[in-house]
Amino acid sequence: MKDTEQPPTETALWTPQDSAQLYGLQNWGAGYFGVSERGTVEVYPGGDPARAIDLMEVVEGLQARDLWPPVVVRFSGILEHRMTYLRHTFDNAIAEAGYRGKYTCVYPIKVNQQRHICEEVRDLGRTMGFGIEAGSKPELIAGLALTQGVNEMPFICNGFKDAEFIETAVLAAKMGRNIIPVIEQTHELEMLIHSARTHAVTPRFGIRAKLASGGIGRWADLVGFRGKFGLSVSQILSSVDWLRDEGLLGGLQMLHCHIGSQIYDIRTVKYAVNELAQIYVELVKLGAPMGIIDLGGGMGVDYDGSGTASQSSMNYTMEQYAADVIHRVKSICDDAHVPHPDVITESGRALVSHSGVLVFQVLGSRVFPSEPDAELVDRALNEGPEAEVPQPLLDLVDAYQRLGDGESDPIEVYQDAEHALNEAMSLFNLGYMSITARAACEELYWAVGNQMAARPRDELTEDLWDLPDRLADIYFSNFSLFQSLIDAWGIDQVFPVMPIHRLDERPTRRGILADVTCDSDGRMDRFPGNGEPQNSVPLHALTQGELTEVGPGQFDPYYLAVFLTGAYQETLGDLHNLFGDTHAVHVVLDADGNWHLEEVVEGDTVREVLQYVQFDPDDMRRDLRKEIEAALTAKRLTLQEGVSMRRFLDQGIDGYTYLE
Ligand code: PLP
Repeated sequence: MKDTEQPPTETALWTPQDSAQLYGLQNWGAGYFGVSERGTVEVYPGGDPARAIDLMEVVEGLQARDLWPPVVVRFSGILEHRMTYLRHTFDNAIAEAGYRGKYTCVYPIKVNQQRHICEEVRDLGRTMGFGIEAGSKPELIAGLALTQGVNEMPFICNGFKDAEFIETAVLAAKMGRNIIPVIEQTHELEMLIHSARTHAVTPRFGIRAKLASGGIGRWADLVGFRGKFGLSVSQILSSVDWLRDEGLLGGLQMLHCHIGSQIYDIRTVKYAVNELAQIYVELVKLGAPMGIIDLGGGMGVDYDGSGTASQSSMNYTMEQYAADVIHRVKSICDDAHVPHPDVITESGRALVSHSGVLVFQVLGSRVFPSEPDAELVDRALNEGPEAEVPQPLLDLVDAYQRLGDGESDPIEVYQDAEHALNEAMSLFNLGYMSITARAACEELYWAVGNQMAARPRDELTEDLWDLPDRLADIYFSNFSLFQSLIDAWGIDQVFPVMPIHRLDERPTRRGILADVTCDSDGRMDRFPGNGEPQNSVPLHALTQGELTEVGPGQFDPYYLAVFLTGAYQETLGDLHNLFGDTHAVHVVLDADGNWHLEEVVEGDTVREVLQYVQFDPDDMRRDLRKEIEAALTAKRLTLQEGVSMRRFLDQGIDGYTYLE
């Protein structure tokens, strides 16, 4: 098995622009990513290619500061650009439609709760009239802290609430905060009424409606009568009566819904807005003051760049979304002679996804060779008497030779090879084939398969179209899917993946990625395609360079990045195998076009993750040191070995959880 290959010879025929096209940056990058002339990924935080940050240069700069991948690189400029873009898009839609309400986006903390991101959103949002959304008690407290000193900032509270939650929201409003709790269940209304009585106030609040329409894809179950959240229309009606009886109807000022995240078909948005706006005007007619309509989240991100109504894409632009929302709310309110409400969206994914990029290093690759190991095949053929050479081995040798003879039907040859391999496995499992013969059979099959996979698609039958994927290399990579890309594991989310350098070279291999967890599920084998994910991604062969000290591999360092990871991935994931949070850095571009690090958030140490699962690293170290001492006394370890072991313990406990 060859683990490395020499660089491709066709280097000169390949340009950085070819790479940009191959990896589809212009499709999924939303104008924030490109390829430099030196073949590295460039980031345009403000969407302007004239002001670029070289991602490879950032990674090199981090290493010079002793910060090693895996690392999440956050681009504050992209976040700012997304927020400004959203602001302008809705402002334009409002101006064009002659709409008389205002627009606000409230950032749902759950999309990425990292303090630095929340603070950036808060600081930028302040000047744009944006707010914050929370969905749990910890998020409520985080939101209260974030909006401290910015009392006017809208703060919407969704999610399941207990009496303490509701009381906190009511009291925060009394303190002068612009906080709006959203009633999701009738018992929450009961608690709100109780709290209003106790504190002698009429709190402002919203009601979440359980819509019959909308809902699509992974979160389709959120809507409909059996949806988990919100009040049905009949519950809303009885709530209005109840509130009127209690003298609290004046507090009902907002109607809310959330039909799911990553809404990929604009028709879904249209239906939902329609239904919500109809309920809104009915509430106004029933005497509720209202004033705000909150559409929740759902604005999609085009992860695969195909612009299609498919799980990892979306068939609309932000402009179309804004125009549709404003147009529909306006026309329904106009028909009902109801004043235009202010519109809120809780767009999280669409705001932060693009600003986060996960970069990691490849540790090695498993290549399925296109040529069998001749020496191995020879050994297998001559292991015993000629009459005892296993038939599948002979069949595979025959298939391999026939494939190149120019006469045999290649499809038939491949089918023979596949059949022979299956036979070989059965024989081996029954104990009738040696390990050498099995290894030779596998090598021969891979060679036949690879040569077939290299043929144009129209020369293959449909069942063989996925052969290149089935025989794609495995690139072992220094990251944890469960910690950093949980949606790729949990809901088969597709993310764009590509090398961040060597883009002036033709990628000659196809690969999937295997992470460093001891879990066979820890692999990425779905990549952007044109609406349909591809099961492997073009990559460069690893090259055997001079042995340097810069990385864990025995070859020239090779860095890959996963893009559009800013939403949901950082905290949804967890400590599988005790791989902790990666480092995260905030990179900004100054007026002179130089990048610098604004924040460095170091990843978890081994000590931190051990403590999280209730181990005491100091106790562990003390006990292990005792054992080393005993081994020295018993002369099972040399002094030198004892020192090495102690050093590993000391440095390891306070080191990074990833391979260093
Ligand atoms: N609002 C609520 C109530 C949510 O549950 C969610 C996420 O599911 C969001 C907003 C954010 O949605 P998105 O990230 O799709 O904009």
